[in-house]
Amino acid sequence: MDQPDPFGFIGLTYDDVMLLPGHTDVIPSEADTSTRLTRRITMSAPLLSSAMDTVTESRMAIAMARQGGIGVLHRNLSIADQAEHVDRVKRSESGMITNPVTTTPDATVAEVDALCGQFRVSGLPVIEGDGKLVGIITNRDMRFVSPFEKATTLVRDVMTKAPLITAPVGVDPDSAVAIFAQHKIEKLPLVDGNGRLSGLITVKDFEKTEKYPNATKDGEGRLRVGAAIGFFGDAWERAGALLDAGVDVIVVDTANGDSSGVLDIIRRLKSDPAFAAVDVIGGNVATRSGAKSLIEAGADAIKVGVGPGSICTTRVVAGVGVPQVTAVYEASLAAREADVPVIADGGLQYSGDIAKALVAGAETVMLGSLLAGTDESPGDLVYVNGKQFKKYRGMGSLGALQTRGKKTSYSRDRYFQSDVPSDEQLIAEGIEGQVPYRGPVGSVVYQLLGGLRQSMFYTGARTIPELRAKGKFVRITAAGLKESHPHDVQMVVEAPNYRR
Ligand code: 5GP
Repeated sequence: MDQPDPFGFIGLTYDDVMLLPGHTDVIPSEADTSTRLTRRITMSAPLLSSAMDTVTESRMAIAMARQGGIGVLHRNLSIADQAEHVDRVKRSESGMITNPVTTTPDATVAEVDALCGQFRVSGLPVIEGDGKLVGIITNRDMRFVSPFEKATTLVRDVMTKAPLITAPVGVDPDSAVAIFAQHKIEKLPLVDGNGRLSGLITVKDFEKTEKYPNATKDGEGRLRVGAAIGFFGDAWERAGALLDAGVDVIVVDTANGDSSGVLDIIRRLKSDPAFAAVDVIGGNVATRSGAKSLIEAGADAIKVGVGPGSICTTRVVAGVGVPQVTAVYEASLAAREADVPVIADGGLQYSGDIAKALVAGAETVMLGSLLAGTDESPGDLVYVNGKQFKKYRGMGSLGALQTRGKKTSYSRDRYFQSDVPSDEQLIAEGIEGQVPYRGPVGSVVYQLLGGLRQSMFYTGARTIPELRAKGKFVRITAAGLKESHPHDVQMVVEAPNYRR
């Protein structure tokens, strides 16, 4: 042990500390919550959804990116399925679709129907030969084809034929809107000088941009998305498939990031020019030296948290971990020097914990239990005694680790148990449970960011960097914590941002 006095080194977590109020001229609604996710990516909200199979698939990732955060797709599914979730997020909205799904004149209407269903679109450009645009087929064109004739009716017989209303590649948004209005169309194909299809703009995308002005988007106006990989077995192949699907951030997601396998794959990703446009997050660590290892391997952000998660049993099963505020602070000492952002992963129970994490040294936080009860998390609502819940389980729980007849459980290498021969020999580091239903992610994030804005008002911080620089902690006792929560009354109405 390299600590001079191991028993003098105290680990603190969110409930052990409080932020000091300070002089303020900040109005909560004017506080700017934008922050860095990685060295290169900024977001308008410091929030990530956890890479867990009861939290983040494409629906959650789309919702999180629209709210200004980002979702990290879990990896307890096949490579093809995870890549498809990436694709769904990337196609969900865009300034311009550079690679639209298309059909040909000889395809059948039934085939077009199937493609539209698969990619959740309402029409397809029709191309021929080397990509020449010859028509477009939308719901309008297919409406009067009877279900019995769909398999025999060809696209060429019902499509709207060229010449179509088109625009050149590079058309500016205002001109595109003017074309939509003038011609009362909803899809605008973009063509090059030879009449070849080179993109598509849809009216829906403009509507979404207006509705979600703070969305986290890439250079092409598509929502950003992260996806988790491991380091074992087919991890490299998974990274390649995610890259091909357009992933923005790869998260090397393990329970102990300071290990050769994890550091190797981070180094490999960072040195491969094919991945130059993708940022790599490494994790998890909970010490200064762990953070240093990830930074030296080249991580663009480091994820901190060993055992703080609500569903996590690592600290009791292995007796290992660092209370989260201390873990974030220690990791940030290494990260600040290298100017690499820290993500505080797990253990947040209330909106006030976000500001505490940021003051401790993080630039964003990752949330599991706070988002697992929303409409957008995978899984159905369950009713218990007339109340609504959603299932929430640790990725190290038996349920997530077990193969149950499948060839593999993809989350085993997160806990370094890929070599365990049978389900009976697994060592779980998490539990399976349920959390109260909380409605749409949009309203939960609104409350979380609202809480953060109040923190910024109380501490006199206009921006997240200012909050991180100015924020000061006071350590509290069990009596102080008791005083912090409602006390000596019986709560009769739950507030949207407070439950016990
Ligand atoms: P929460 O927000 O629910 O407190 O914590 C979520 C975080 O817990 C996840 O982002 C992940 O880092 C971590 N986690 C997820 N499943 C498990 C598990 O089974 N065991 C452990 N040790 N950590 C887990």
